[in-house]
Amino acid sequence: MYLSLGALLAMFSVAGCSSESGPADNYLIGSGTADITGPIVDLQLSGFARSTQIANGIQTRLTARAFIVGEPDESRRLVFVVTELLGSSHEVRLSVVDNLRAKYGDLYSLDNVIVSATHTHSGPGGYSHGSSFSEEFFDTVVSGVTEAIDRAHQNLKPGHILIGEQEVEGAGAQRSLPAYMQNPEEERARYQHDTDRNMTLLKLVQEDGAVSVLNWFAVHPTSLTYNNKFVSGDHKAFAALEMERRLAQSSGTPFVAAFANANCGDVTSNLNLDNTGPGTDDLDSARIIGERQLDAAMALFDSVSEPLSGPIDVRLTAVDMADVEVSDAFTGEGPQRTCPAAQGYAFGAGSTEDGGGNPLFMEGMVDQDEGIDSLVQAALGTSPPSEALLACHSPKPILFTGSRDPAPIGVATIGQLALVFLPGEITTMAGRRMRDTVRAVLGDRSKHAVIAAYSNDYTGYITTPEEYDTQQYEGGHTIFGRRTLPAYQQEIDRVSRALVSDTAVTDGADQGDLRGMVSSGVLGNDFDAPPAGASFGDIVDAPQASYAQGDTVSVSFWTGHPGNALRKTYIEIQRRDGDEWRTIATENDWFARARWTQASRVFPPLDPFNPFAPPPPTSTEAFTVLVIWEIRPSTEIGTYRVLFHGSERSEASAEARLFTAESPSFDVTRP
Ligand SMILES: [Zn+2]
Repeated sequence: MYLSLGALLAMFSVAGCSSESGPADNYLIGSGTADITGPIVDLQLSGFARSTQIANGIQTRLTARAFIVGEPDESRRLVFVVTELLGSSHEVRLSVVDNLRAKYGDLYSLDNVIVSATHTHSGPGGYSHGSSFSEEFFDTVVSGVTEAIDRAHQNLKPGHILIGEQEVEGAGAQRSLPAYMQNPEEERARYQHDTDRNMTLLKLVQEDGAVSVLNWFAVHPTSLTYNNKFVSGDHKAFAALEMERRLAQSSGTPFVAAFANANCGDVTSNLNLDNTGPGTDDLDSARIIGERQLDAAMALFDSVSEPLSGPIDVRLTAVDMADVEVSDAFTGEGPQRTCPAAQGYAFGAGSTEDGGGNPLFMEGMVDQDEGIDSLVQAALGTSPPSEALLACHSPKPILFTGSRDPAPIGVATIGQLALVFLPGEITTMAGRRMRDTVRAVLGDRSKHAVIAAYSNDYTGYITTPEEYDTQQYEGGHTIFGRRTLPAYQQEIDRVSRALVSDTAVTDGADQGDLRGMVSSGVLGNDFDAPPAGASFGDIVDAPQASYAQGDTVSVSFWTGHPGNALRKTYIEIQRRDGDEWRTIATENDWFARARWTQASRVFPPLDPFNPFAPPPPTSTEAFTVLVIWEIRPSTEIGTYRVLFHGSERSEASAEARLFTAESPSFDVTRP
């Protein structure tokens, strides 16, 4: 009998503990990943809302990781997807569900599919139907998320889920202490820290062993600051890619590891609280914060032993947050109303600890200023907000108003785990209050309670009313007024009660559908003018003949605009193995990346003080792509080369020609 190495390893690894000796296989479980990387040049990276932060390269690809958990009798299923994007988009979810419905009928629907985001600040915008919409990016995300769910569906097998919680050391800091300290002293005294440091991890185990993990830990993916121009999943991508690499290596089969976000509204990964730390630069900081999450996840992977047991249930609905009457039970100050959406001055200030925003504004501004108002209204062409609206949002001075689709919310239970789905960025203490809300209703079914933030759409921040009063950045971006959190608590309480009483949630608000209603920007340029005296794919700067372990390789090639043909792989680092070349890294390796430049183009091309400046025009000038590979001290010595997968579009043809360029080989030696 032939046994593969993977099967042998699985027999002996901890991951391979079989269902006979372990807990009963009480669920159907499956997981899968797919690529959702869109444009990597010329779209604004969306996290910091700075028009100067235009992407010009790739540091990691963006991935969707999908999980399906079902009752063994197939009566109930839950789909949870973690995308490496800034936020979720209602329209993405609509199209994903349309795709699933076409294949699987009623099995997957808006009633059981949740699409969440890690909140990476270094993904391009444009996937959602906003101001810089890109149909091509939207389609890429929709097909990637669908594919990830498809794979999870194809991998469905009986299995069980183990759960555990553990503190993550040094991976997040409270970035709005003046707000946090406004919460009552006796409430703060209930908690050891001013951020939630626990990671909650699920380990999905099928007959042949563990196949995936899904964890939630609250920290902003802002290690890559607004100075970064690489598309990247930031620290959560480092952790996910490295855990997947390690566990695939030890089991011999693909592994899925998703690092989702929780109540991180006021938690920064810039531990120095000045847009830096703990590393020597952005990428180093992201790696360190990623490693700390990875360490906790690996420790939990080895130690979790508590099986989830009990029914799966889920209730999803949508609430018109602009118009909720909130009862005394949740306000503690009589019945109150939420307000139509408006951003405050502190929204314009950004989070100082994560780099800040427009210099006109500061966190903590609580007085309306006529000078600022007339400037903003002139720039945006808006009229002053009404007295009633100003009063409703008090003490938040209103920067601008804006309509907002109803907010998707929901609650799910898998045995003794409760998940709260919110479309917003909820702060530490607001998240704790929300967990208390569901625990009060769900009891034993919420022994573990997790805030699955950034789910199903994006509706700004959620602070406590006390935090709101200080108008730190998060309060300025809490758009439905001071009772935003109590309103969400009231609605989550209602949804939780429906789940417990096994009744339907009725009269959900209509979330609308912007598909087909927003015009799309066009990627790429008209054509790629050939480089003078060279051809596309030619080398510009060759590698050295040899490098020592720990050195950095850089190689550059002539290429066209990468927006003309999105590629599934742009770069490969290959090692010679006898007569063959074996790929040891792509841009999905943390230490390999690529940057595109045009000689006459200056980044950033825009006025940093004018957030309304138009994006740069594309030019037909040829690009050089610089491939950078940091050789790890542990990299095997040997002979290597770099491959680059590019494209060029000639003036005569609308279709881009794809090509693969290769560098001369070089040696990696011991230092
Ligand atoms: Zn945020």
